[in-house]
Amino acid sequence: MDFGWTSEQTTLYERARAYARAQLAGAVEAGDGLPRALWRRCGEFGFLGLSVPERYGGLGMDALTTARLMEALGRGCEDTGLVFSVGAHLFACVMPLLEGGSDGQKDRYLPRLCSGEWVGANAITEAEAGSDVFALKTRAAREGDGYVLDGTKSYVTNGPDADVFVVYAVTDASHGYMGLSAFLVEKGTPGLRVGRRFEKMGLTTSPIAPLYLEGCRVPASSRLGAEGQGAPLFKRSMQWERACLFGAYVGVMERVLERTVDFARQRKQFKRAIGKNQAVSHRLADMKQRLDSARLLLYRACWLMDRGQEAELEVSLAKLAISEAAVQCGLDAIQIHGGMGYVTETGIERVLRDAIPSTLFSGTSEIQRDIIANHLGL
Ligand SMILES: Cc1cc2nc3c(=O)[nH]c(=O)nc-3n(C[C@H](O)[C@H](O)[C@H](O)COP(=O)(O)OP(=O)(O)OC[C@H]3O[C@@H](n4cnc5c(N)ncnc54)[C@H](O)[C@@H]3O)c2cc1C
Repeated sequence: MDFGWTSEQTTLYERARAYARAQLAGAVEAGDGLPRALWRRCGEFGFLGLSVPERYGGLGMDALTTARLMEALGRGCEDTGLVFSVGAHLFACVMPLLEGGSDGQKDRYLPRLCSGEWVGANAITEAEAGSDVFALKTRAAREGDGYVLDGTKSYVTNGPDADVFVVYAVTDASHGYMGLSAFLVEKGTPGLRVGRRFEKMGLTTSPIAPLYLEGCRVPASSRLGAEGQGAPLFKRSMQWERACLFGAYVGVMERVLERTVDFARQRKQFKRAIGKNQAVSHRLADMKQRLDSARLLLYRACWLMDRGQEAELEVSLAKLAISEAAVQCGLDAIQIHGGMGYVTETGIERVLRDAIPSTLFSGTSEIQRDIIANHLGL
């Protein structure tokens, strides 16, 4: 077993972290849409195409290095909303395009999506199809040389800013899992409308909105992969997202732990640093233990993915551990910072607000536990 990074990986990690810290500092609570100038900078470094081959404008990294670079992004950039938008774009739009797209689709979309010229989004969830993702009602009816899409998607990250959407719809209701297909639908297509942006408790720079498809006609050439291949494509994109996107939360936890340790060493009460109290130092020790165990689960999952081995169980274990550790990290950081932790302008309480949705998106904690229990034979 080799726990070492190559010198190339180490250099890249350090460069990515320094770039994120210096170039991606922005209005973390702006709440009025994706910061496009920062988005372009993400593209300039290569964050928007970490796992995409260089010929399409990406960095050509494997899953493990991609997760490590997402970690650098989450550690260096305090705007976790921006980081989340990058992850949703890359793992739920760009990667299915790379893995399921035709040469023509890849040539048209990937360079624009990797450079930051375009923003990508993914639309599967519906009012009655959340965790039960295969209960979709959106239909794609074959008509002549194309399809007509009708339905409503409830939460689309990047939706208000997106130039292209990966939309999942039922093409054959009698085929269940194999009755779904994926489509690339461009902004401005007649019949496609993005709804009003939702306000939410965290990840405020990452816009989210519903998507309406009303008689939305697309050519057959916009189908992503073969008809009926939507579900396997989605499943694979969730594997990328559940693994690599959550690398960012490992980076966030590391940054917050460092800041909280510094605070515990400097803040004095009863004439000594608060970190000298076991109640505080043990809380920090537990934060470190949760961070490192979640991180190791992530690296193992990505290592298996890179070997082309089955990794469903390991990816779910990592996603569950990271998201729940991130929420606990937010709570612990507030507790240790005392009143300061609760004051918005210190940025500490935001850690918790940005962490809470991580136990919901990419499959809730309950769904991850279901997957793990299934693998246990239950
Ligand atoms: C910040 C954010 C960004 C998102 N971005 C996107 C996006 O870009 N594209 C997209 O398509 N969707 C997106 N989503 C939607 C997300 O995927 C869903 O919210 C998620 O799948 C859960 O679905 P739901 O909200 O309908 O909850 P439900 O499925 O209704 O679940 C409600 C509760 O019931 C529990 N539950 C449900 N079924 C079971 C079960 N069988 N056993 C035990 N408990 C169960 C759940 O775990 C949860 O606690 C996003 C969500 C958030 C919060």
